[in-house]
Amino acid sequence: MEYGFFDDNAINLLKNCLLCPKECRANRIRGAKGICRTDAGLNIASICVHKGEEPVISGPEGICNIFFSGCNLHCSYCQNYEISGGSVNFCHGEDGETEHIGRESHQNSGLLFTDAIETIESMLKRGIKSVGFVSPSHMVVHVLALISELRSRGNNPITVYNTSGYDKTITIKNFEGLVDVYLPDFKYASPEIADRFSGAYDYPEVALAAIKEMYRQKGSTLITDGSGVAINGLVIRHLVLPDHAEESKKVLRLIAEEISTGVSISLMSQYYPTPQVAEHPSLGKTLTREEYEDVVMEMERLGFRNGWVQEMESSRSYRPDFSMKDPFNR
Ligand code: SF4
Repeated sequence: MEYGFFDDNAINLLKNCLLCPKECRANRIRGAKGICRTDAGLNIASICVHKGEEPVISGPEGICNIFFSGCNLHCSYCQNYEISGGSVNFCHGEDGETEHIGRESHQNSGLLFTDAIETIESMLKRGIKSVGFVSPSHMVVHVLALISELRSRGNNPITVYNTSGYDKTITIKNFEGLVDVYLPDFKYASPEIADRFSGAYDYPEVALAAIKEMYRQKGSTLITDGSGVAINGLVIRHLVLPDHAEESKKVLRLIAEEISTGVSISLMSQYYPTPQVAEHPSLGKTLTREEYEDVVMEMERLGFRNGWVQEMESSRSYRPDFSMKDPFNR
């Protein structure tokens, strides 16, 4: 198998994979799938224009989002569960044409990499300013290869690292100068809850360290261009879970104490129960207005002054269907 788009260093990293905090040492070059359920292949589930991110991220034209399949976190309520298992592999053109890339070809052929680059380029040529890498923590060498190739071909999009927050700090250090906007989740403050819902007891510690490094690089100021699109900075997302408003308030207090109340926060109400958790006593429910407003009040009490809250109706419009041509326009 050829890996023409990787340099030798990337290939060595993938032979004994320690790229994410799981450090499971899978030999992804030999086809082994790590805890993230992905081999060394490009493992792109979808490339599409997405207009449903925060206004500064999507901008008026939308963002070219690259959704990777697989994930190094296994959240039981995963809102992108159709692709996080690592099985889907197709690619959409922005003009509505669907470009199917066969399941065989996701084994990292140079052609697929070129196809991905050309698909992204076609979107950039149509006025899309930003390229987002979604669920990238297990695909960081692929992200680097994609950014490097786009730049070498004369493209200079705004790059957005849209992550669960479960990243190694060293990875974030290596992205300095390459990622323009960090868009991490900060899901939990309590290791027990992180373990119960996402199988990662160390998530709070790991995510806090990673986000601190993002903050070191970007600070609190979110710089936007004339059309209101973020061109540099950090936005921390938090999804409020049913029956867990207190945990959300703990997350906000942690950000206030350890990072800054000046950082931009996107407080999300869009949770919806997926079929996998339909019977769960908490995760099988939707969030109530009272729970969400309780968390919003804590955010205000702590003095956060930048960011976004959502309408309670957001769960319907934010729900993706990755079997559709455009997963977010159903
Ligand atoms: S990226 Fe995947 S293979 Fe590598 S350490 Fe993490 S879970 Fe294991």
